Amino acid sequence: MTEAPERLRLRLPRALVDPRLSGLPVGAGDGLVAIELEQRQGRITMLRPLAAAESAAGSLPLALTPLVEPHAHLDKCFTAAAFPNPEGTIAGAMASNRRESDQRTAEQVLERGERALERAWRHGLRAIRSHIDSGGPATRPSWEALLELRRRWAGRVELQLVALVPLAHWSSAEGEELARWVADRGGWLGGVLGPPYGRLRSDRDALGALLGLAERLGTGLDLHVDEADDQPGRGVSLVAAVAAERRCGVPITCSHAASVALLGTRRLERLAEQLAALGIAVVALPLTNLWLLGRRPERTPRLRVQAPIRSLQRAGVLVAVGGDNVQDPWYPGGDFDPIELLRLVPLTSHLWPAQRQGLAPLTTAPARLLGLEWDGLVREGGPADLVLLAAGSWTDLLARSPRRLVLRDGRWLPPPALQQPSPLLPAVSMG
Ligand SMILES: [Zn+2]
Repeated sequence: MTEAPERLRLRLPRALVDPRLSGLPVGAGDGLVAIELEQRQGRITMLRPLAAAESAAGSLPLALTPLVEPHAHLDKCFTAAAFPNPEGTIAGAMASNRRESDQRTAEQVLERGERALERAWRHGLRAIRSHIDSGGPATRPSWEALLELRRRWAGRVELQLVALVPLAHWSSAEGEELARWVADRGGWLGGVLGPPYGRLRSDRDALGALLGLAERLGTGLDLHVDEADDQPGRGVSLVAAVAAERRCGVPITCSHAASVALLGTRRLERLAEQLAALGIAVVALPLTNLWLLGRRPERTPRLRVQAPIRSLQRAGVLVAVGGDNVQDPWYPGGDFDPIELLRLVPLTSHLWPAQRQGLAPLTTAPARLLGLEWDGLVREGGPADLVLLAAGSWTDLLARSPRRLVLRDGRWLPPPALQQPSPLLPAVSMG
């Protein structure tokens, strides 16, 4: 790794710069401000705004602080080639996922997770919340492997772990034992709530039991809920109702919340206000949703279902956007690359990074959601960790995937290695 220079000139989103820094121009349409910073031993020792004369538009690299992935599946990433899902359906994904997890070993999870974290770190991620398939034979090996990775990667990529089981599992004796084991290791409880829905009563009871367990153990909840294109918002509404009933004090995240977008305007507004009042956060996962949902055989999709990010934000809900599945039966693409996600969300979700609410779900919101010590803002005395992009504007960033440099702890990280040797193109001589 190479030492970085002490002085750097950059253009940063205003939303990622210390709000107390004065002298910055206000109201620039692209939301970017030109600054000079000085860094020593990984900390920012000086930060000052640059005058217009010192920063001609496009002459300074666009920069961000390292990003946070609020929703991943490190236990099953990179399994798509061996366990494909050619139909691209949820049922197909589930079947391939089961076949793979039935023979999953600790060595496999360790190898996949290590590869994923290496890529994530070099791409500019600083923290990841990962769900882990739990409740089956691969539970202990998967957890042991990811706990080992959490230890190995501490200080480079912080890892938060969530146990993913069928919701009813938490009501069983084995479920309770698993919950205690997970909570003892700082993990969170998760589960799946979505169509096909059981009897309302049984889901309600299972949720109530899970919330009670989380309260007793003092741990948080992150549920896969309403990952569907029918029965609009039924799961999220139930989570909100049960949390309100129990006056639940544990942090709750609803991941996906896709079918919530299909509610009528008034019902959606009411649900969003209820989530905001209860402090329930939402993680939107547009890539996996657009890949799996609204799919009808032999038809181009008409319905593009994903969490209603803007309506939730308007009501005051904390919303983060995640990459979710990476090269597994649920989504064959992805590479733990937060810049690619930033390039895609203007298209998938009409989030425009020049706007505060367009950038927050990928930067400051996931940092808050994971409860990280650093909020991701650039300030004197704070970490001098940065992601520099060879792009002069947001349009540049959208036009092509830029080269990047990731600065961590005063040093440039080496870029990620190619996953596989890429095929060679034939040599061409011009002229
Ligand atoms: Zn997921």
